[in-house]
Amino acid sequence: AELYKINGWGAPYFSLNSSGNISVRPHGAGTMSHQEIDLLKIVKKASDPQAAGGLGLQLPLIVRLPDVLKNRLESLHSAFDLAIQSQGYESHYQGVYPVKCNQDRFVVEDIVKFGSPFRFGLEAGSKPELLLAMSCLCKGNPESLLVCNGFKDAEYISLALIARKLALNTVIVLEQEEELDLVMEISKRLSVRPVIGVRAKLRTKHAGHFGSTSGEKGKFGLTTTQILRVVKKLEQVGMLDCLQLLHFHIGSQIPSTALLTDGVGEAAQIYCELVRLGAHMRVIDIGGGLGIDYDGSKSADSDVSVSYGLEEYALAVVRAIGFVCDRKNVKHPVLCSESGRAIVSHHSVLIFEAVSASVPNAQGMNPVGLQYLIEGLPEDALTDYRNLTDAAMRGEYETCLLYSDQLKQRCVDQFKEGSLGIEQLAAVDGLCELIANAIGSSDPTRTYHVNLSVFTSIPDFWGIGQLFPIVPIHRLDQRPVMRGILSDLTCDSDGKIDKFIGGESSLPLHELESGGSNGGGKYYLGMFLGGAYEEALGGVHNLFGGPSVIRVSQSEGPHSFAVTLAVPGPSCSDVLRVMQHEPELMFETLKHRAEEFCGSGQDEDSDGDDNGMGNAALASSLARSFNNMPYLAAS
Ligand code: PLP
Repeated sequence: AELYKINGWGAPYFSLNSSGNISVRPHGAGTMSHQEIDLLKIVKKASDPQAAGGLGLQLPLIVRLPDVLKNRLESLHSAFDLAIQSQGYESHYQGVYPVKCNQDRFVVEDIVKFGSPFRFGLEAGSKPELLLAMSCLCKGNPESLLVCNGFKDAEYISLALIARKLALNTVIVLEQEEELDLVMEISKRLSVRPVIGVRAKLRTKHAGHFGSTSGEKGKFGLTTTQILRVVKKLEQVGMLDCLQLLHFHIGSQIPSTALLTDGVGEAAQIYCELVRLGAHMRVIDIGGGLGIDYDGSKSADSDVSVSYGLEEYALAVVRAIGFVCDRKNVKHPVLCSESGRAIVSHHSVLIFEAVSASVPNAQGMNPVGLQYLIEGLPEDALTDYRNLTDAAMRGEYETCLLYSDQLKQRCVDQFKEGSLGIEQLAAVDGLCELIANAIGSSDPTRTYHVNLSVFTSIPDFWGIGQLFPIVPIHRLDQRPVMRGILSDLTCDSDGKIDKFIGGESSLPLHELESGGSNGGGKYYLGMFLGGAYEEALGGVHNLFGGPSVIRVSQSEGPHSFAVTLAVPGPSCSDVLRVMQHEPELMFETLKHRAEEFCGSGQDEDSDGDDNGMGNAALASSLARSFNNMPYLAAS
């Protein structure tokens, strides 16, 4: 557990169990150990067709844990409740979930259901997000907020106003000044009194990667001058009572409570000024930014960690707003946050398999054969070789490396010229590696090939270098003896993971085995804390589609879990359709071709050769390929 810092990033949900596997405690701290769920058992159930009740799903696999979502919502809410009580704050917290973090239907529906007792609502940033938020909130608490952010056109604004007509507690947050005219015009036409918010562009700047949208030059929000113009305009048309919410967003992954306090304090001053100017302010919406400690270091100095927990975050917010409002004699506002990452990151685990690992050049080399091949080298290369062995005898390791590089380069040049055979080149590669191993200068890092597409499943690693904890989910009772980087199935050189939490350039890994381990010879890895953003951003590079998905809830019974939903990932046909291909037509074309070129398979064809597979069998094999997922199928 220490090697992979599991207790740092995983607590209170993920830990190492006595079988050497990673377990989940979906209800967090205080859960009894018999209520732990062994991840390997989930993977077996999902993917092993032979296992009792096995679902036969293909990997990669996302395991969703709705109980974790519930626990995250409860923990966030109780952190704010505690801070509100301890500070004597005279209003309440009711957050919204920004659906952009993960728009999966079941994730959003779960959040609405679990958050209903706390009036937890949704935030949308586009028309389709608004449509899904509207329909989900119909089953939620009527007091829950529906916050409409993002750039808006007339259609978006109409939709948001229709949501108000449907008795959903909808707020249109102005991101641009021009949106106000549309809101005024359309609300009049639809006869709805809008509730309006403004997004303020704060001066407080978050310097990390995720803060590029913050500060005076940030992409979003209204400057103080623009906010004043909005107030004046609303006043002129008798609609200043419609302005009720102030929103800001410093950026995701706010590193410290010091920065948070600074930003929230600045926003609270704007809030109080809006009250003074006559707006009927009720809510301060502090945006997202509640961070996740991906590497377990609790450090404010990196994009993958934060130096606070939920309680410290809530306390900083409540204190900063309470302090400013008390000084200005302003009634305490309802507190809203748009925490996305902090709610959904933990609830899903991506499981994938290492299918092979690179083999060192020297492996399997027969020293006698090696000697024979070396003796056949041209004279200049042979001189390098003799110098090399002399230096080795004298124990001069630096010189050894020098001659070894020289020998290798000379042989490569001769191979390119065509004067050296491939067997001799391979023998020299093997020899140089043997020497490097012997003097301890070899690079022990292996490449593990994983059944995954980085572009589809971990796009933020590729796009912005974001690190996630990646850990074998089993065999952790054995010390890993190798170090490896992970290379995916795409033919893209960026399709590899060679940076890991803790600043490591390789991951401690176990030797792959053929059969016999508690994973049945397979080697499963998990990517944790990826429940936010990764699924929504992933593309179809090399036409690898998304993973299979299962939802797993805690239950009574021998395995202490139940699978409540199992969905295979997109098939080859599905991903082809994304690029406008028509798999049905493609199949027909290939089937006709098979009829044209291949016999029935019953008899020998016209050449007298039995091609072994008749066209009917070929067609059904083709059909299987269209219907299966693009990833490597289990052997
Ligand atoms: N609200 C807004 C306006 C955002 O832009 C974002 C994302 O950056 C969020 C909320 C969610 O932020 P986080 O995932 O850090 O909670």
